[in-house]
Amino acid sequence: MDFELTDEQKMLKDTAADFAKNEFEPVAKELDREEKYPMEIWKKASELGLIGAWIPEEYGGSGVGFFGNALITEEFSRVDLGISLIVAASFGCEAIYWGGTEEQKKKYLPMVAQGQAISAGAFTEPDAGTDVAGARTRAVKDGNDYILNGSKMFITNGDVCKFMITLCITNPESEKRYNKHSLLIVDSALPGVTITKIVGKMGIRASDTSEISFEDVRVPQEMLVGEKEGRGFYQAMQFFDTTRIMVSAQGVGLAQGALDKSVQYVKERKAFGVPIGSFQISQQKLAEMAIRIEATRNMVYKSAWLLDKGDVDPILNSITKYYSGETAVFCANYAVELHGGYGYIDEYDVQRYYRDAKILQLYEGTKEAEVLTIARRLLA
Ligand SMILES: Cc1cc2nc3c(=O)[nH]c(=O)nc-3n(C[C@H](O)[C@H](O)[C@H](O)COP(=O)(O)OP(=O)(O)OC[C@H]3O[C@@H](n4cnc5c(N)ncnc54)[C@H](O)[C@@H]3O)c2cc1C
Repeated sequence: MDFELTDEQKMLKDTAADFAKNEFEPVAKELDREEKYPMEIWKKASELGLIGAWIPEEYGGSGVGFFGNALITEEFSRVDLGISLIVAASFGCEAIYWGGTEEQKKKYLPMVAQGQAISAGAFTEPDAGTDVAGARTRAVKDGNDYILNGSKMFITNGDVCKFMITLCITNPESEKRYNKHSLLIVDSALPGVTITKIVGKMGIRASDTSEISFEDVRVPQEMLVGEKEGRGFYQAMQFFDTTRIMVSAQGVGLAQGALDKSVQYVKERKAFGVPIGSFQISQQKLAEMAIRIEATRNMVYKSAWLLDKGDVDPILNSITKYYSGETAVFCANYAVELHGGYGYIDEYDVQRYYRDAKILQLYEGTKEAEVLTIARRLLA
């Protein structure tokens, strides 16, 4: 075992940290208030190779692996979780990478890695989220095309993406519930695709979230991810095994950011003539935050390291995702408490961290879904 980051990884972490500090901090409040996607920041990050950085060099990426991508995600989320979701500009491409044909990899991965396109992963539907296999969007073969009908809900990047990896039923006749679905790469500009941005989110308001409907959308058959129909559910599970680790890295970053802000504040703020950091009850809060962050970071690094070795551990991923969400919510809550009344107004960043943190227990599998996965495997 080696817990030391390589020189390249240290450099990558520093680059991401500097970028977030310089680019995110000055605009985070405004983008949160205005619910505006940080298009300019995404472009700059792409130029530095920080978007889709996990994509191997042969497909135009930086080739830093999923571990490297987790480091970028952590540093970005430390400053602002909503803006940090620009790293999710490659969201969905993981499914092409794991299950796509060589032509699909060569066509789509470089586009995203080189800042020419944003992608999305469209799995959730208005009536099916946790129950992934309950997705009812339907693709019916017509000559060399599929005709796609249905709708998707809560799709990150929906309104800014060029294409979306879409889970849909292609084989309704299959007796097995998990063999009915496939993934299609759907161009967002196709006739019949309607995208409606969702506004009024509690947090991550700089990130785009949309509702999408498909009405007789003609999708060429070569857009099927991989070569065989009926693999979509399994491809989705493999996809989540990757992206859950990135969401867990978001949790470490947010929690660390909340701790950073708290440490700074308790040194400056005085009550009863002394800094509030001199009270043992404040110190206990800081220490508990640090303990949980350290534990979570180790879990994230181990999960990402295993993934890069091709040795995915779904239980560890669920444990990590669960604990990361808990840590983020816990730390953001303490950060607000340590800031007193100032923690409740948006002049101070910690109220944004508090609102942002909750999504980490909801998306990419709710915390209950993670518990189910862990328990199921234990009892299998
Ligand atoms: C901001 C945001 C961004 C998102 N981005 C994307 C995206 O890019 N792509 C995408 O496809 N989806 C995305 N989602 C959707 C997200 O992954 C789902 O909201 C999530 O998986 C939960 O699904 P649901 O909302 O349908 O809740 P439901 O599945 O209806 O769950 C409601 C409650 O019931 C619980 N529950 C459900 N089943 C069980 C069970 N068997 N046992 C115990 N409890 C259960 C859940 O844990 C939850 O507490 C996003 C959501 C949000 C809010």
